Amino acid sequence: MVAAHLNGEKRPVRELDQTTTDPDIVDSSAGAKKQKTDEANDPIEEPEEPISADSAHVKESLSTVRDDFVRDLTPLQTRPVKVCTLNPPVDTDGLSWPSKGARARIEQTPEEAKARELRIAGAVKTILTELGEDVEREGLLETPERYARAMLYFTKGYEDNMRDVIKRAVFEENHDEMVIVRDIEIYSLCEHHLVPFFGKAHIAYIPNKRVVGLSKLARLAEMYSRRLQVQERLTKQIAMALLEILKPRGVAVVIEATHMCMVSRGVQKTGSLTITSCMLGCFRGQQKTREEFLTLLGRK
Ligand SMILES: [Zn+2]
Repeated sequence: MVAAHLNGEKRPVRELDQTTTDPDIVDSSAGAKKQKTDEANDPIEEPEEPISADSAHVKESLSTVRDDFVRDLTPLQTRPVKVCTLNPPVDTDGLSWPSKGARARIEQTPEEAKARELRIAGAVKTILTELGEDVEREGLLETPERYARAMLYFTKGYEDNMRDVIKRAVFEENHDEMVIVRDIEIYSLCEHHLVPFFGKAHIAYIPNKRVVGLSKLARLAEMYSRRLQVQERLTKQIAMALLEILKPRGVAVVIEATHMCMVSRGVQKTGSLTITSCMLGCFRGQQKTREEFLTLLGRK
């Protein structure tokens, strides 16, 4: 699927140097065919002339596109609202796409944290009973509390925010070659079935005078994966967050993951791997850059 990008028709050079809510440039490749069609039909994707990174004209036209997009959606909502396209990566309180109760979790006292854990454990006890289990048998006595703690750990990313994760690890550096960190292990929970999906993330960017400490890329992936997710959104969120932090010339994120909801039930395709990608800036517009990235990933 990834390789299919390379066979695409000739694209206009397109570099974006700012975060945008333009839904088109953050479209992940759910399917190469679909993406191709989208691009072909979308006038935004085919600018009349190549656009350069820092032109005021581009910024102006982008904000117009964004305004139009939002206005078109409200109140008719002709297209489903997407969390990644309508919300910027960093919201006002810095939680970076928080869940509804994330703020309450962060600010809770130790007593409140304990009470939360007990409430979850109570709910788990109900589930166990409904499954036909004997919650009083020895093996299950502490399972509800244990599961509560495990779930809180699996979703601890809600308590992290981009600023704390990155801290002071952004540096001015005159490096303009591709930076790739590959094979970052990720563990996440599918929000549709509450079962794990896990695999590897590969993150690349081309700096524009700013670089970030390499370990922070893994931390960023960890922050977004320790939440209830779908793989497509996880991929976009990592890419858009990096775009926001570094304002690089381009960002590419590829995630390959195994979904337990897929391999352990239903169709039972035990070997199946789901691959998603999100290419922004020059990775999206320049075939050479994209090719170099995929070659370095060993995907060619
Ligand atoms: Zn699932």
